Amino acid sequence: MNTDVIIVGKGIAGLVLSFLLKKKGIQHLVLDRKSKKKHFALAETLPPSSMPLLHALDLIKIFEKNTIRKTYGYHSMWGNTRVLNNDFFSQLSYKNGLKINKKTLVDDLEELCNMDMVSYEKMLNMIISKEEVIVEVENDHQKVIIKGKMIIDATGRNRAILNKLKIPIRLYDNLISFSCHLPRIEHSKLTYDIFVESFEDGWGIVSGLDEKTNVLSIFTNKDNLIQLKLRDYSNWQSVLSKTTLLKDFLVEQPEVKIVGLDANSSIANYLSGENWLAVGDAALSFDPLSSHGIANAIYTVREASDAIESYILTGDRKGFVTYSKTLFSIFDSYYMVKNGLYRAESRWMESSFWKKFFQSEGRETHNLPRQNGTGIILD
Ligand SMILES: Cc1cc2nc3c(=O)[nH]c(=O)nc-3n(C[C@H](O)[C@H](O)[C@H](O)COP(=O)(O)OP(=O)(O)OC[C@H]3O[C@@H](n4cnc5c(N)ncnc54)[C@H](O)[C@@H]3O)c2cc1C
Repeated sequence: MNTDVIIVGKGIAGLVLSFLLKKKGIQHLVLDRKSKKKHFALAETLPPSSMPLLHALDLIKIFEKNTIRKTYGYHSMWGNTRVLNNDFFSQLSYKNGLKINKKTLVDDLEELCNMDMVSYEKMLNMIISKEEVIVEVENDHQKVIIKGKMIIDATGRNRAILNKLKIPIRLYDNLISFSCHLPRIEHSKLTYDIFVESFEDGWGIVSGLDEKTNVLSIFTNKDNLIQLKLRDYSNWQSVLSKTTLLKDFLVEQPEVKIVGLDANSSIANYLSGENWLAVGDAALSFDPLSSHGIANAIYTVREASDAIESYILTGDRKGFVTYSKTLFSIFDSYYMVKNGLYRAESRWMESSFWKKFFQSEGRETHNLPRQNGTGIILD
């Protein structure tokens, strides 16, 4: 099979990129790895600040169609035991965010793009030369060879292509999340169905998924002992015993499935090379406290689509450098804001989870790489 752009990964980043390339008339296909894992809904929310991007890219209709409901605010208990009401009505332009149904959104985006799709079980080989990219995959015991001018890593935190290219990843922490679905409880002290609370070993968020279900996610560090306890729901009561409101959302249930996921802040050392780019979480991933993972994934593919268009049509790779530069500077700003948020919680400055934010390395701007894979030094 021959194409111009091979997109690996069928998440929001990969599919929105396909949508934008289709609009530009750039030939591409999406490589999707078959997975036995069942989809687990995280009740992801897009904040009001993401709405202008969705409008600008003509994506608002499809996102709104796959919205569980609009969100008008959230509550937090961070830094003290007062419930803070964060009301979106006070925001200037967009007064609501969206809690999306990721599964149906991905299905609808796939239908909208109507692109060539190759599902596979195993990637056998990938050869990247200056002129072309050759990928060999296996599907139903058959070998499929795909040739393209460039390849895109849109495989989220798996970073499948970056790993094959041996691109180092800069991990800035080892945050990990444990999530479960619980019967829905409406809390008498809360109006909105999103609530965030910090505690000595991390923080948690409860979010209404549908009429009957809440999603509860707890975040801590991989080296914190409670991460072992969080693997078994029967320990959640004791882990959350000192929280003020979060513990009220725990419901006695015989069997609760727990899903553990990485949630660290990280960025690839190189975001582009001669004929490859990383987009979405594969390029840079945000702490879910930011609530900007999806908006960021969409923003990266918007920037990437311009760089790809220019390379495919003219062979000019300058767009790759601009792309890398833009993303490194976004990560820099994000990292400072994120650490500031964590430092707003100073009740447990000595605990292993919180103390790093008050030590010098938590405060410093990190030393980001200033080079991309093309060997061009930035700045
Ligand atoms: C607990 C938690 C809560 C979150 N809450 C929010 C929130 O409220 N709001 C928000 O905006 N963001 C949130 N996020 C972040 C958000 O989910 C991600 O930023 C976003 O989904 C990234 O999209 P992506 O397309 O880059 O990656 P992904 O969604 O990870 O998609 C990657 C795709 O690549 C596929 N893939 C993986 N490996 C391979 C391979 N080897 N070959 C081929 N395909 C492969 C995967 O199956 C998947 O389809 C949260 C994250 C976590 C962990």
